Amino acid sequence: MNSNFLQTPIDYLKGVGPNRAALLKKELGIHTFQDLLNLFPNRYLDRTQYYKIGQLQQTNAEVQIIGKITHIKSVQQQRGKRLVATFIDETGTMELVWFRGHKWIKENLKPNVPYVIFGKTNWFNGSFSMPHPEMELLEAHEKSIRSAMQPVYPSTEKLSNSGITNRVVNGLMQQLFLESQNNFEESLSKPLLDQLKLLPKSEALFNVHFPKNQALLARAQYRLKFEELFYIQLQLIRKNLIHKAKIKGYPFDKIGSNFTTFYSHHLPFQLTEAQKRVVKEIRNDLGSNAQMNRLLQGDVGSGKTIVALLSMFIALDNGFQACLMAPTEILSVQHYNGIVELCNNLNTSIELLTGSTKASKRKEIHKKLEYGEINILIGTHALLEDTVKFKNLGLAIIDEQHRFGVAQRSKLWHKNEYPPHVLVMTATPIPRTLAMSVYGDLDISVIDELPPGRKEVKTVHRFDSNRLKVFRFLKDEISKGRQVYIVYPLIQESEALDYKDLMDGYESIAREFPMPNYQISIVHGQMKSVDKDFEMNRFVKGETHIMVATTVIEVGVDVPNASVMVIESAERFGLSQLHQLRGRVGRGAEQSYCILMTGNKLSDDARTRLETMVRTNDGFEISEVDLKLRGPGDLMGTQQSGVLNLRIADIMKDGEILKIARSYAIQVLKQDPSLSQPENIPIKKTFAQLTRYKNIWNYIS
Ligand code: ADP
Ligand code: MG
Repeated sequence: MNSNFLQTPIDYLKGVGPNRAALLKKELGIHTFQDLLNLFPNRYLDRTQYYKIGQLQQTNAEVQIIGKITHIKSVQQQRGKRLVATFIDETGTMELVWFRGHKWIKENLKPNVPYVIFGKTNWFNGSFSMPHPEMELLEAHEKSIRSAMQPVYPSTEKLSNSGITNRVVNGLMQQLFLESQNNFEESLSKPLLDQLKLLPKSEALFNVHFPKNQALLARAQYRLKFEELFYIQLQLIRKNLIHKAKIKGYPFDKIGSNFTTFYSHHLPFQLTEAQKRVVKEIRNDLGSNAQMNRLLQGDVGSGKTIVALLSMFIALDNGFQACLMAPTEILSVQHYNGIVELCNNLNTSIELLTGSTKASKRKEIHKKLEYGEINILIGTHALLEDTVKFKNLGLAIIDEQHRFGVAQRSKLWHKNEYPPHVLVMTATPIPRTLAMSVYGDLDISVIDELPPGRKEVKTVHRFDSNRLKVFRFLKDEISKGRQVYIVYPLIQESEALDYKDLMDGYESIAREFPMPNYQISIVHGQMKSVDKDFEMNRFVKGETHIMVATTVIEVGVDVPNASVMVIESAERFGLSQLHQLRGRVGRGAEQSYCILMTGNKLSDDARTRLETMVRTNDGFEISEVDLKLRGPGDLMGTQQSGVLNLRIADIMKDGEILKIARSYAIQVLKQDPSLSQPENIPIKKTFAQLTRYKNIWNYIS
C-alpha cells in the first residue's frame, strides 16, 4: 500500500463518522489511516482460558466465563440506579453490574441464552461481581475469527464514554486491514531483514493487531520496536555526522607546554585507566577540525576535575581561552581554589566570576578577558551574561549539566565567531540506554572506574527510634577525628516547614553535642552567601565537627576528612539526590558511612530507594532503578520527553533492542552515508517520510 493511502484522513474510513473522527483526533491524535495503524496495543488479554464461577479467586484479574443470565433488576442507590444481572454456570452464581447505559443493555440482554463474558471480578460480601462486562453470545463467539490474544488499545475516559470502546477500535482496525488488503510497504532493507531475521512489515503489523499466537506476537513486536528505535538512531547519528561535517571547530592539534609540563611534573596522582582513556578521547576530538560536543559521565568522586583541567590545557596550548561553568557559587569557588592550587607552578592566569563578584573586579575581569589576559575563567551562570566577552574562547566546560537548560548551553556557543568545543560533565549517570536515545547526537565518554584505594561507603537504613544509637556512633567517629554531615530535605513547596525541621533538628543536635567539646556549622538556603561561605569554610578547615545543612551541599563540596553522612527524612529524597549526597563522604582514606534516617511509614517506592542505596554504591545501577521508578520523562525533564515519546518500544525494557538498532544504524550510515544504494531505498524512503510527516512519528525531534 503506498504512502498516499496511509495519508488518507481518518474521516474516510468506513465506520468513522464526523463525531468519531473528531474524537479520535482530539483524544488519540489519530488524523490519518497511518496514525490508526500506528496505534499499538498497550497489552493483550489472553482469551484462551475459560473460568468457572466456582474457580474464581479473589485475586483474579481479568477472566472469561461461559454462563447464562437468569434475572435482571434495577437497584436504586444514592446516586442514580444500578442495573444488576444474576449470572450462573453449573458451578455457581455471580452478579453483573452496570452503572451506565441501562436502557440499551436491558433491551438487548437475553436471559437463559449462553454468553461469554469477560472482565475484572470484584469480591464483595461473599460473592463475586463483574462491573461492565464485555459480553458476546456464545454462538457468535464460537464463530468469530478474532484471535485469542486480544489487543487492548490505549484509550481515554472520553472515548469509552462516547462509545468508542476497545471493541470499536478493534473493528476500525479490521476495516483498515480490509481496505489495505494487509499490504503495507516494507520500510527496512532486505539485508537488515535477513540479518536480523525480522518479520516483514505487513506480517508484523498484522500480528501486532491480530496476533495469531504468542510466538508471532513476540516477533511482530520485536520487528516494530527495532524499526522505531532504528529510525531514531538513524536520525540522531545522521545529525551528529552532519554536525561534524558542517560545524567546524578550531583544531587543537598542538600538545604544548601547559599540558606536557603539568602531565609530567605536576600531576598529583596517577590517572586511572578510565581517566587516561577519556583524556585521549577528548584529545582526539579537539585535534580534529570538527567542533567537539561531548558528554562526560562519571560517578561522584571518579575524578572529572582533572580531566577538565587537562582538556583546558590543550585549549591554552593552542592559543585559546577556556571556561568552566558550575551550577552553584560554592562549587565554582571550590573548582577555582582546586584548580589554582593544581596550577600553582604554572604560568596560568585563572579568574573566578560569580554573582557576588564585586563590580570593580567584574569590570577588570571583563577587560582582561577581552584582551586575552585571562586563560581560564571559572564561575556560575554569571559567565553567560552579555557583558562577558572572550577574546577567543576555545573550550567551554559545563559541570553538572542537569542544572543548565539546553538553551543556555547554546548561548555559550554564540559568544564567539566560531563555536568553542563543548564538554558537559555530569555526575548523575544516565543509564546508557537512555543516554543513547536522548544524547545520541552527542559523543559520550564514561569514567567507569574510581581512583584506587577508595573504600565503598557503608550505607545503612535506621529508623528515627534508633536515633540515640546513631548519635553514639557519631560521637565515636568524631572522637577519632572525623567530621559529620547531617542533611535535611529541602523541598521548594514548603520551604517554611523545611526550615522549621532543620532548626528543630539543629537544636536537638546542639543539645546532644554541646559546646565547647563539639562545634557545629549550619548552612541553609535562607542564609546570605557570605554567611554560608563562612560556615562552610569553618567545616572545610576542620574547625567544626558537624555540618548541619539542607541540600545546598549536594553538589561538589570536597572535605576528605568528613566520613559520615546522615540523611534525615531520607524517604523524601530522590535516588539520584541520595547518591549525590552520599558522594560527599568516602573521599579520604578512612572508612566512611552513610546513615539513612526515616520514620516508620514508608511507601513502596521509598523502600525500594532505600534498599537500593544500602545494596549498591554503583551510580549506574542506581540510575537504572531510578529510571524504573520514575520513568524517562521525569528523569530527563520535560525538554527531552518528546524524544522519548515512543509508540511501541520501551526505553526501560528494550535496552537490548536499542543497542542492536544503534549498531545497525551506524553500520548502514557508514556503508552508505547518503542511503543511495539500491538495497537501502526502503530506508531512504521511510526516513524521508518520517521527516515529512512529523505528526505521525512524533518521536523524531
Ligand atoms: P568528581 O568526578 O566527583 O568531580 P573530583 O574530580 O572532585 O571528582 O575528584 C574526587 C577526588 O578524587 C579529588 O579529591 C581528586 O583529587 C581525587 N582524584 C581524582 N583522580 C584521582 C586519581 N587518579 N587518583 C587518586 N585520586 C584522584
Ligand atoms: Mg566534580
